[in-house]
Amino acid sequence: VKLTPRLTAQLAREWLARKWRRRTVPHGVILMYHRVARPSADPWKICVSPANFAGHMQELREMAEVAPVQDVLQSLRSGRRAKPVAAVTFDDAYLDNLTDAKPVLERYGVPATVFVPTGWVGSTRPIWWDHLTHAVLEAPKLPRMLNLDVAGLRIAWRDLDLDAGTRGGRRARQRLYREIWSQLRVLNDVDREAALDRLLEVLGTDDTTMRDVRVMSADELRALTDGGVVQIGSHSVTHPSLPNLPSEAKAWQIEQSAKQFCELTGQRPSLFAYPYGDLDQESVDLVRASGYTTACSIREDLVWEDADPFTLPRLAVGDWTPAEFRIRMRHYWFA
Ligand SMILES: [Zn+2]
Repeated sequence: VKLTPRLTAQLAREWLARKWRRRTVPHGVILMYHRVARPSADPWKICVSPANFAGHMQELREMAEVAPVQDVLQSLRSGRRAKPVAAVTFDDAYLDNLTDAKPVLERYGVPATVFVPTGWVGSTRPIWWDHLTHAVLEAPKLPRMLNLDVAGLRIAWRDLDLDAGTRGGRRARQRLYREIWSQLRVLNDVDREAALDRLLEVLGTDDTTMRDVRVMSADELRALTDGGVVQIGSHSVTHPSLPNLPSEAKAWQIEQSAKQFCELTGQRPSLFAYPYGDLDQESVDLVRASGYTTACSIREDLVWEDADPFTLPRLAVGDWTPAEFRIRMRHYWFA
């Protein structure tokens, strides 16, 4: 692109309009967390250390008016405010949300929402992608050769350097992880489990150290919401990419999850988060028809008062230091 005077003028106008809008129009942000933990491998960069998380909440408390996610739009529409509105959410209902996030949220009085894949509640198995991370990225040794064709997973390599001690080996492991992840993601639950079991077997994975990397049990979820600072919402039954499913399966994931949620809490859920942030119009319509009132995507944007409550944008938070968190938030809100 050539920077002509005309283009320069246009860019300047857009920059000013953006700046002006952020100064004058109420807006907020919905933060998306997953785990509060320090695992040795984190391929999607979704883990925040307990110390950094505490720093984030302290900073957020000072910079923003924190609200439950369903109140953000209401709050924005109620007029101009001195501070931006912010909400905190967690996806996947990891056990560390109870053990490491909840005490911090209570200490700083920050309300938060945890989105639960209801079909995984009480499962003692790690979530499949964590199992895969452990098997491929954390394994001390991997075979130089493999040929696997099972339950829809086809993966083969020979003479591949997968040495965790070399840069090339680590990169090859990352590529391998992404490849297997993409294949497993679109399998149905039964096939995925069968394929993963076989893979863990041929890789000789020792998963005995993974016991705490899992979704909370029903009792743990009750302990999580006890006290009222943390609320829960639905994240489907088994975390599929909804647009990939036929209509009935899509409807089942959304409605059955509401039923399981109701068994768990005695109430129908009002909050939903689309697994992987994947959504299409049909999923949105089904979510609305099932009685949910607020649904979160993972599209990255600020929340403006005219935002659609069924596709709210969110900002994925990384393992930033508290200072970095402050800078990013300021830039995000006011730049
Ligand atoms: Zn998720």
